[in-house]
Amino acid sequence: MFFPIIKHDENATVNCYTPFHYRSTSPLIMAVAGRFQSTAAAAATTSTTAATSAATGADKSSFPTLFSPLDLGPDIGKLPNRALMGSMHTGLEGHTIPKFMVRWLMGNDPHHDDEMARMAQYFQERAEGGVGLMVTGGISPNSVGVVGPFASKMTNADEMLQHKIITQAVHSVQVPMGNDNSSGGETTKARICMQILHTGRYAYHPFCVSASATKSPISPFKAKALSNSGVQSTITDFVKCATLAKEAGYDGVEIMGSEGYLLTQFLSPRTNLRTDEYGGSFENRARLPLEIVKQTRQAVGKDFILIFRISLLDLVDNAMAFDEAVALAELLQDAGVTILNTGIGWHEARVPTISTSVPRGAFAFPTKTLKQKLGDVLQIPLVATNRINDPTIAEDLLTDGTCDMVSMARPFLADPELLKKSREGRPEEINTCIGCNQACLDHVFKAKTASCLVNPRACHETELNIFKLPVEQRMNISVVGAGPAGCSFALAAAQMGHSVTLYDQAEDIGGQFNMAKRIPGKEEFYETLRYFRVQLEKEGVQIKLGTTISYDQMRQEGDAVDKWVLATGVNPRDPKIPGCENNPKVLSYIDVLRHKKPVGKRVALVGAGGIGFDVGEYLLHFDGKDRTHKETSNQAFWDEWGIDPTQSQRGGLLPPEKQHHHEPQRQLYLMQRKKGKLGKNLGKTTGWIHRTTLNKGNVEMIDNVKYERVDENGHLHISQDGKKRVLEVDNVVICAGQVEHKDLELSAKENAALAAKVYPIGGAYFAGELDAKRAIDMGTRLASKIHEPGVVPGKHNFFATPGPEEKMNQLLSRFL
Ligand code: FAD
Ligand code: NAP
Ligand code: SF4
Repeated sequence: MFFPIIKHDENATVNCYTPFHYRSTSPLIMAVAGRFQSTAAAAATTSTTAATSAATGADKSSFPTLFSPLDLGPDIGKLPNRALMGSMHTGLEGHTIPKFMVRWLMGNDPHHDDEMARMAQYFQERAEGGVGLMVTGGISPNSVGVVGPFASKMTNADEMLQHKIITQAVHSVQVPMGNDNSSGGETTKARICMQILHTGRYAYHPFCVSASATKSPISPFKAKALSNSGVQSTITDFVKCATLAKEAGYDGVEIMGSEGYLLTQFLSPRTNLRTDEYGGSFENRARLPLEIVKQTRQAVGKDFILIFRISLLDLVDNAMAFDEAVALAELLQDAGVTILNTGIGWHEARVPTISTSVPRGAFAFPTKTLKQKLGDVLQIPLVATNRINDPTIAEDLLTDGTCDMVSMARPFLADPELLKKSREGRPEEINTCIGCNQACLDHVFKAKTASCLVNPRACHETELNIFKLPVEQRMNISVVGAGPAGCSFALAAAQMGHSVTLYDQAEDIGGQFNMAKRIPGKEEFYETLRYFRVQLEKEGVQIKLGTTISYDQMRQEGDAVDKWVLATGVNPRDPKIPGCENNPKVLSYIDVLRHKKPVGKRVALVGAGGIGFDVGEYLLHFDGKDRTHKETSNQAFWDEWGIDPTQSQRGGLLPPEKQHHHEPQRQLYLMQRKKGKLGKNLGKTTGWIHRTTLNKGNVEMIDNVKYERVDENGHLHISQDGKKRVLEVDNVVICAGQVEHKDLELSAKENAALAAKVYPIGGAYFAGELDAKRAIDMGTRLASKIHEPGVVPGKHNFFATPGPEEKMNQLLSRFL
C-alpha cells in the first residue's frame, strides 16, 4: 500500500527578541545577516510600542509577546507576530498524475477542476485568521525525493505555474501588525514559504536514494547510495526548486532538514556510512545541507526567506549529537538562513512526539538549550515546535527564553482563527487541536486528504461551507443528545441561522467525551467540551440539560419543531457471556469511567477496541485524580519514554537501564475473539503508542479467545486454541463495542408526520466503527444542508469527496 511517510510540523518557539549581529566574513552572508542588525532596533521599538499599547489600549490581546512583530530586516520586512504555521502534508499539495488520468478518476466533480484552488482557499483562510507566515506541505526538488508515486514536486515551469494561485491567494490578505486590533491599524501582507522536502530513504517507491544504501525500519524499500555526482545534482535540484518557488510568488522556502529525511540521513552516522567528503566527520556529514543553503541563498538573493528545519532531538540511536546540532545551527546561520526552525524525532523513532499524550511544550527543551548554548552568537530567529497548541503555551515559551517564534501546524487545522481569537482576547473560543491525529496524520498515512476531527472543514474549505441562510430558509430544530454529533450539528445549524434547542439527559454536554477525557493522556479532550460550551452559548443555542426527551414529548411539540435531529448515541453491546447478568463482579466501561465504581487489582477486559485499550490505560495509570492538561508533567513523560533532557547521548535517549516506567496499578488481561495482534485497528499513527503503553504495564494480551462463563467469584472462564483457562480476577469489565441507541427513531417511525422530520446522526445513525471524527463530520455536514429540499431522513449522510491523489492511491494500493 502507498502510505506517504510525512510528519506534521508542530514547531513553536518564541522568545524575547534578541538583537542580531553578523559574524560571517562572506560578502553575501554579511549582506544577509546584516539585515538583522538594522532590524534589531526596529524590533525593539516595535516591541515597546506593542507593550505600551497593551497596557493602555482596549483592543489588545493578553499575549503581548506572541503578538509582537518580528523584523527580518529591510530586504524582507516585518512578520506581524511570532507564530509560524508549520509545514503539514495535507494531500492538497498537488500531484503529478497525468491530466487525462485525473479526468478519468474524477469525472465531472466540480470541486476538483482546479486542484490547487483547494490549497489556495485552505491557506487563504489561515491568513485571514491572522497567520503571518506559513509553510506548505513538502514539495520534492526532484523525482526520487517525492513522498510516493505521483506525489508533488517542483522541477519545471509547468509545476511552478500551478502554485501561483496559492501565493496570490495568500498575498491578497493583510494581517494586522502585532497587537493592534483597531480598524485602520498597521497591517502587513501574509507570507507563505514552500517547503522543499527530499524524503531520501523514507520515499515510498523503489527508486529512493540516501546517503548510503540503507533501509529504514518503517519502509519496504532499500535506498541506493547517492554517488558523488548524484549529490551534486541533488544540490542543483534544491537550488532550482527554490528559484522556481520564488518565481511562483512564494516569499521563501523551508529546507527540510529534520524528521529523518534525506538531509538528516546525511547528518547522522546512523545512516551516513560514506567515506567520501560527504561522510565520516561532522564537517563532512554537514556538507550537503550547508552547500544547499549557501547555493540557494546565492541564487535567490537577499529578499527571500530561507528557513532551515534543523533536528534538535532525533530520538533514535547513533544520530546527530546535540553538540553537532549546535555547531550546525551556527553554520547554517552563516550560510544565509533567515529563520531556524526545529524538528523533533525521526519518523522511525519509537517515542511519541506529537500525540495527545505528549504534554504541551514537552519538546521545547532542546530549543531552549540551543538558545542558551549559542547565546548572542545566534542572531536569527529560532522556532520551537511540537505540541504547542494554544496561545498560552506559545506565550510562555516566547517569554521564558525558549525561542523567538512558535510553530503550530495542526492547531491551524483545528481552528484557522486561532490567532485572531487570541489577539482579540477570545482564547476561550478557540477550537483546540487535541493531538488525536485521527483526521490529519492518520488520513495522510492512509493516503486520504487530511482534515481535522474537531473541524471537518479543514482541507475541505471549497466544499463544506457554513454560512447564514436567508430568513425564509431558517427553521426551528430540536437536537436530542449533546455528544459530539449533537453539539457539532447544533453549533453549525445555529451558525447557519436556524433556531436550535439542544437537549441532553445528562447534566453536562459532551456525551462519551466525558468518559474519554478521564483517560490518562487524553486530558486535551476537555478542550473540545469547553469549545462547544462557549460557542453554543455564543450562537444562542438553547441548551436544556438534565432533560430526557421521550417520544410523547416529540409528538406533543407538533409543528413547533420543524426538524428533529436524534444524536442519542450508543448503548454498550451485551456480549451475552453466561454468568454476567446481575453479577456484581461484572462491570461495563460506563460503570468504571462514568459511575466510578471500585475495581479490584486483577481485571479481565472483554474487548480490545479503542475503548478496551483506553480502559486498560485508565486501570493501569489512573491514580484517583482527574487531571487537565495543566496538571500533566513533562518529567513523568520523559521518564516514561526514556527521553534524556540533558541529551548526553546521540539521539537523546536514555540507555534502557536508566529508563523508568510507571508501576502498573493492576494486573490486566485484555482479550479479543479475533485471531491476530490486538489493537490492529487503532489509529495508524497512535495505535503503536497504546500497544507499547499496555505492554510496558505487563498487560497480558489474549487473542482468539472464547468466553465460556463468569462464575460467582467473578472469575472468567475462557478457552484459547482449545485450551481451557480460568482468569482468577476480581472484576470483568465489558468493552465489547456498542450498538445504536435508536429508541426514539423507532418510535417516531410509527408516526408518519414525525418520521418525515427525524434525522438520526452519529452513533444513533450507525454504531459500527463509530468515533468522534465521524460523529462531528456527520453533524456538521448535515447542518450545512438540512435546509435543502432533497435532504430527507435516510438521505442525509454526506461525505467528503476524495481527491485525485486519494483515488489514485486507492487504485495503487490494489497493486502495491
Ligand atoms: P454520544 O457521545 O454517546 O452522545 C449521546 C448523548 O445523547 C449522550 O450525552 C446522552 O446522554 C444523550 N441522550 C441519549 N438519549 C437521550 C434522550 N432520550 N434525551 C436526551 N439525551 C439523550 N472517539 C474518538 O474519535 N477518539 C477517541 O480517542 C475516543 N476515545 C474514547 C474513549 C472512551 C473511553 C469512550 C467511551 C469513547 C471514546 N471515543 C473516542 C468515542 C466517541 O466518544 C464517540 O464515538 C462519540 O462520543 C459518539 O458521539 P455521539 O454524539 O454519536 O454519541
Ligand atoms: P470497537 O473498536 O468496535 O471494539 C469492540 C471490541 O469488542 C473488539 O475488540 C471486538 O473484538 C469485541 N467484541 C465485539 N463484539 C463482541 C461480542 N459480541 N462479544 C465479545 N467481544 C466482542 O469498539 P469500542 O472499543 O467500543 O470503541 C468504539 C469506538 O470508539 C471505536 O470505533 C473507536 O474508533 C472509538 N474510540 C477510539 C479511540 C482512539 O483512541 N482513537 C479510543 C476509544 C474509542 P472481537 O470481536 O474480536 O472479540
Ligand atoms: Fe488536531 Fe486531531 Fe484535528 Fe489532527 S485531527 S488537527 S490532531 S484535533
